Amino acid sequence: MSRLTVIAGPTAVGKGTVVQYMLSHFENVHLSISATTRAPRPGEVDGRDYFFVTADEFDAMIASGEMLEFAVVHGVNKYGTPKTPVLEALARGEHVILEIDIQGARQVKKVMPEALLVFIKPPSWEELVRRLGARGTESEIEQQARLKTARIELESASEFDAVVVNEDIAKCAHDVLDLIQA
Ligand code: 5GP
Repeated sequence: MSRLTVIAGPTAVGKGTVVQYMLSHFENVHLSISATTRAPRPGEVDGRDYFFVTADEFDAMIASGEMLEFAVVHGVNKYGTPKTPVLEALARGEHVILEIDIQGARQVKKVMPEALLVFIKPPSWEELVRRLGARGTESEIEQQARLKTARIELESASEFDAVVVNEDIAKCAHDVLDLIQA
């Protein structure tokens, strides 16, 4: 049975790596590609990592009803899930994964209550700070903004259907798959 699963969790917790592991190791898993108004990072490809759009293009997608959910993340850029590819993948019988923030997760639960909401947690706060610094893709100011959001997000873990600790990528990915198939 196909299932819509939301994977959320604080910045730098390793959500992206866990999801990539699932895509390359498990069958029948489809990752939804979000639209964002954020600029691409070095190495990011339009249509693969995100659909990079202008603020006007983003607003047009909202107006046409094409966003399953959307949110302003870290107080700056808009991010949203285009609806059509999600519905098409579910209709093909695939497990669809949305890697989105907590505000988006709440919206999805409202419009699709059958969705499974999984929160990925770091082994500790110190480890999260270390992972964010080690990634080195954000300036010091951006890191502080992300950590501020992360503190608030960690408090919302109890709203999710399940919480999985990302100590080890393969183990975390298998734990999520078990939840999807349960
Ligand atoms: P980043 O800028 O690091 O790629 O992503 C920042 C945050 O935006 C991440 O926490 C990610 O979960 C969230 N995000 C990415 N795509 C979406 C989306 O389509 N909707 C929502 N609500 N959040 C998203």
